[in-house]
Amino acid sequence: MLTADSAAATRTPTQLETPAYAATSATVPLAPFTINRREPGAHDVLIEILYCGVCHSDIHQARGEWGQSTFPMVPGHEIIGKVARVGSEVRKWKAGDTVGVGCFVDSCRQCEPCRAGEEQYCDNTPSFTYNGYERDGKTVTQGGYSSQITVDENYVLRIPDGIPLAGAAPLLCAGITMYSPLRHFGVKPGDAVAVLGLGGLGHMGVKLAKAMGMHVTVLSHSPNKREDALRLGADDFIATKDDGIFKKHANRFDFILDSVSAPHDFNNYLGLLRRDRTMVLVGIPDPSPVNAFSLVGRRRSLAGSCIGGIRETQEMLDFCAQHNVASDVEVIAIQQINEAYERTVKSDVRYRFVIDMATLR
Ligand code: NAP
Ligand code: ZN
Ligand code: ZN
Repeated sequence: MLTADSAAATRTPTQLETPAYAATSATVPLAPFTINRREPGAHDVLIEILYCGVCHSDIHQARGEWGQSTFPMVPGHEIIGKVARVGSEVRKWKAGDTVGVGCFVDSCRQCEPCRAGEEQYCDNTPSFTYNGYERDGKTVTQGGYSSQITVDENYVLRIPDGIPLAGAAPLLCAGITMYSPLRHFGVKPGDAVAVLGLGGLGHMGVKLAKAMGMHVTVLSHSPNKREDALRLGADDFIATKDDGIFKKHANRFDFILDSVSAPHDFNNYLGLLRRDRTMVLVGIPDPSPVNAFSLVGRRRSLAGSCIGGIRETQEMLDFCAQHNVASDVEVIAIQQINEAYERTVKSDVRYRFVIDMATLR
């Protein structure tokens, strides 16, 4: 643990000492740590963090599974909090507002994707909430497993009244990651949608697709999730370990949202798509080969999708408030974070861990 003394030695007068949990390397558990947040500048908002969701991407990055991790790393990009203070030029937010921060805290604001409101695809790399860099290209960003965060006012989301706050946290990543492709690829009410993998992303996919009026089937490698899938709103459930399912359900779906975090054979699932339909990867497992025959025979598409921009994330939050959609969460203390990682990797989470950040103070 970095001591208060050593943190003070590196702190400038414009920084705020902030308790956090960090991974100091890819092979050690997360542990208490102290970081410095900047004092809010003219366009910044200082947010007291109340809840932070635990995304599988936190685990991939804290364990160096994407090969580009910077340590020490404070993960967390499903942040809900209250505005503590705002900079002199901020007009959108005031102290006491309930707000959210998702997977990025800034972007170049000039490239074509940024101007189109798709900041997550910024040509100059978004400033990811952690394991990234601020716009200066050298200040390492640190995430939501911490008591406060300073963010530019334009990268803050409004949490509508009525959504339970712990259940709102996962919307900032899991929710928007499933909402955006359902909108972008033009999936229509009544379409047969398959959600592959019933975890944090998957359970949000079920709820959102149902709220949009689609016919939803969960495909899961955990046969014991059938009841949950139906309770969450799915119309059907297929256990992918059962014999003959790929033949039985061939050419059945209009759209597949694949949220599986571990390597699996994409070709099997592509075979479940109808002609001219699309399977979208949102899960980010290790690579796995795609056979051209899986695509060419029925002019199928395999695509990918990454979270969503600020405007669409706000739209998704408002949609959730309107349709009573929130995540099913298990609220944990920050001290349980390493156990929560183990359980997530074993697909043993119902359906998102969310840290009560009061346990850090
Ligand atoms: P999660 O809660 O751990 O869910 C992943 C699900 O994948 C599990 O619940 C499980 O569902 C299935 N699964 C796990 N191991 C499996 C295996 N060995 N074989 C088959 N299925 C397996 O993770 P998450 O937070 O939802 O994230 C899922 C993936 O999406 C991660 O790779 C994450 O990094 C990525 N992600 C991407 C974006 C994006 O913008 N594209 C955003 C957030 C996260 P069943 O038990 O039902 O089979
Ligand atoms: Zn995430
Ligand atoms: Zn940009």
